Amino acid sequence: MDPANLNLDGLTLSDEGLTLNLASEPETAAILEHCLIGRVLADREIQFAYFSERMSRAWKPGKRVTITKSVADRYLFQFHHKVDAARVLDEGPWLYDNFHIVVDRIAPRAVANFVPLNHIDFWVQVHGLPFGFNQPKVGQGIGSFLGTLKSFDDRNSIHSSYMQIKVAIDVTVPLKKEWHVCAVNGEFVTVNFKYEKLGVFCHRCGVLGHTDKACPELFELDVDDDVRNWGVFLKPAAQRIGTAATNRWLQDPISATMSRNNPPAATAPAGRNTNSRGTVPVPNFNERMLVVQSQIYAIKQDMLAVQTASHAKQAAGASATFSFWRPPLQLPRPQTYLRDAS
Ligand SMILES: [Zn+2]
Repeated sequence: MDPANLNLDGLTLSDEGLTLNLASEPETAAILEHCLIGRVLADREIQFAYFSERMSRAWKPGKRVTITKSVADRYLFQFHHKVDAARVLDEGPWLYDNFHIVVDRIAPRAVANFVPLNHIDFWVQVHGLPFGFNQPKVGQGIGSFLGTLKSFDDRNSIHSSYMQIKVAIDVTVPLKKEWHVCAVNGEFVTVNFKYEKLGVFCHRCGVLGHTDKACPELFELDVDDDVRNWGVFLKPAAQRIGTAATNRWLQDPISATMSRNNPPAATAPAGRNTNSRGTVPVPNFNERMLVVQSQIYAIKQDMLAVQTASHAKQAAGASATFSFWRPPLQLPRPQTYLRDAS
């Protein structure tokens, strides 16, 4: 076979097989930039219709998303703007029925079956560190122990009750519960880990995706020995209290990395389980005044609309003896984020 005769616009056929040069197919490459592939870590069947409906509503993509079932247990998420795809990747971990979803980008020429899909980025709380240890290089070391460090929360400071780091965790191995760090005096202390947005995991083997009732280790025994070395202690406390957002006499500690011109304030989001931690722009006085002015403007617009409707009602009553004015029927806007695959 003479490959030269079969070299077609990005396609090359040889004795070894077919080669597609994606560089010559910019549209295909661009679509791949908007796509994610994923799988649900669940020990039960996923109903595709419910899954696609609920995930599209959870993600609320600005330009919608097309979801199709790929091979085996894998799903293809084609976003119609790369901003949506990037946000979904950044704001995880995502849950469906409390089961974790592993999502990743699709590399050119990747085969759906062989995309690893074994890592989820978790925000991990590190509790029990000695004073002075709440700093990036310690976060780097602990992050390497847990997996791969992705981010260090800028708001970590001496006032923080725990260190917060974002780590890519391998979902095929048990969740790590604790580690030991050595203080200057040579004594080791135990630090404990808590995982934000932690869904279903096994209290027996510590792996995500099944409960202890369905653990493979359990079925190697004749009788359940009730050994459970993992538990809800891996989840953070549901709510943090005593911040400037809830107490006007409190001032949130100023992070060392924040500049004097950008202090934390009660208007900053209090939750730490967002990816924008430490980089949230705090509005200054002029910006806050603009917000107040826009709110006053919106109220005036509402009052004007009420007056207009009242006048319309009076005019209709005067001109039509047997007709009554009714407000125009306003149906709620459909909240759909899905786009059909066709
Ligand atoms: Zn298990």
